[in-house]
Amino acid sequence: MAEGNSEIPCGYDEDFVNPIDEDLQCSICYVAIREPVLTRCGHRFCKECLEGHMSRYSYMLELGFEFELDFELDFEFQRQACSCPIDREELVDRKDVFPDKATGRKILSLFIRCPSTACDWTGELREKKDHLVHCESKLVECPNGCGSCVVRKQIESHIDNECPLTAISCPYASMGCTKKIQRKEIEAHLQSTTSLHLAFTCSTFKETTEKLDALQKQVEELKTSNYSLNAKIEAQKQEITTLSEKVDTQKREWTAANSSLDSKLDAQKRELSSSLNSVVVTHRREWAAAISELDSKVDFQAKEIRRLTNETSPFVWKITGFNEVLQLAREGIVPRIYNEFYTEKRGYKLSLRLYPDGDQTQRNRYVSVFVGIMKGQYDPILPWPFRQQVTFTVIDQQYDLSKRRNEVGILNTENTPWRFSGRPTSEENPDLDGIDRLISHKVLFTRRYLENDTLVLKVDVGPHDSQSDNSYSDYDDWY
Ligand SMILES: [Zn+2]
Ligand SMILES: [Zn+2]
Ligand SMILES: [Zn+2]
Ligand SMILES: [Zn+2]
Ligand SMILES: [Zn+2]
Repeated sequence: MAEGNSEIPCGYDEDFVNPIDEDLQCSICYVAIREPVLTRCGHRFCKECLEGHMSRYSYMLELGFEFELDFELDFEFQRQACSCPIDREELVDRKDVFPDKATGRKILSLFIRCPSTACDWTGELREKKDHLVHCESKLVECPNGCGSCVVRKQIESHIDNECPLTAISCPYASMGCTKKIQRKEIEAHLQSTTSLHLAFTCSTFKETTEKLDALQKQVEELKTSNYSLNAKIEAQKQEITTLSEKVDTQKREWTAANSSLDSKLDAQKRELSSSLNSVVVTHRREWAAAISELDSKVDFQAKEIRRLTNETSPFVWKITGFNEVLQLAREGIVPRIYNEFYTEKRGYKLSLRLYPDGDQTQRNRYVSVFVGIMKGQYDPILPWPFRQQVTFTVIDQQYDLSKRRNEVGILNTENTPWRFSGRPTSEENPDLDGIDRLISHKVLFTRRYLENDTLVLKVDVGPHDSQSDNSYSDYDDWY
């Protein structure tokens, strides 16, 4: 490295970021000092530059002499006869020149740029070596040894595409030539193996033609199937169109049907509601009438009950509308009519059943009447069994009392007491007794037994007083 006679400077001829002090420049090579040495006279030089200077100086002194001495001897020799290139101060002793390590460190700390203009790197001078190992813009030699210098980042591209020493595949590789040849040998290989390459090419061509034929066939087949598919698609499209038309028609029909149904439903609703209303109104009226009728009946019944609870013997039963009563009995609709009374103010309670058309044995011939003993309020204070005579009198309603001929039926219980005349344990004793031939129908419609269609039946309990029958003269009040 020590090139004392070389024209290349010994110092650091770098691209410094900042201009460097004169102190740090070698006065022999005029660049930054490499391995600085300081002379006794206070001047700094590159170690190599100063050594070179001294060598040249000695050579001039010892004309014709060849020096092939190592550094130590060389320096020993010069000790006698060399001087500072700046001020010609004699530097005779080794002590006159010594290494200046402090300045050396200072210089190594100066900032420089990378020598490659394409690289942006800057750093201390001492880091330059390390940087250059990795600098992508540094020129490096081709590792194949072709002798080319290439920027480091393009070395791969050089090897792959340019380097004549790179082994590459024969251009006929796809035809079957498996040879790997250096790029520079390719021409020679092509010329020397023309017939082989031709054979490869022919065989490959044949294979390719066969494949092409097969492919052509497949294309034809595909074309055919494609055609039939297209036809099918067309048919389906048409079908879909027809279907959607049908759907549209159906939709329209449904809509129409719906709307007509809706209006029909509405009409029916209106009709129903109005007929319901009228029915309700009619029924309300009917109900109101029926209720008022019932009310008057209830009133009448209440009056009757009040009257009856005050009735005592002799009990007079006035049966109005007798012909209708008789008709209902004949038709079996109302075979008998009913009444009840007390025998005296605190007496027995008796029930009466009148059969206008006769009881079972006297149907259509006689009027029958029966009496029953009911549970009464005064039973506890009365003598039992009941032993009183009951006299039924159908009144002949002649105005002239002397001409009356009443029809009388007597039920005598005094001598032959009823087996069922004991004190009632239920509402009424179960068995009855009476007169089944009270008055015959023939007689009934003669004389004036029926006056204004009214029959009057008097019931006496106790001894019969025939005189009293004629005292019921004031019938006009009843009708
Ligand atoms: Zn120098
Ligand atoms: Zn000097
Ligand atoms: Zn660089
Ligand atoms: Zn190369
Ligand atoms: Zn080949």
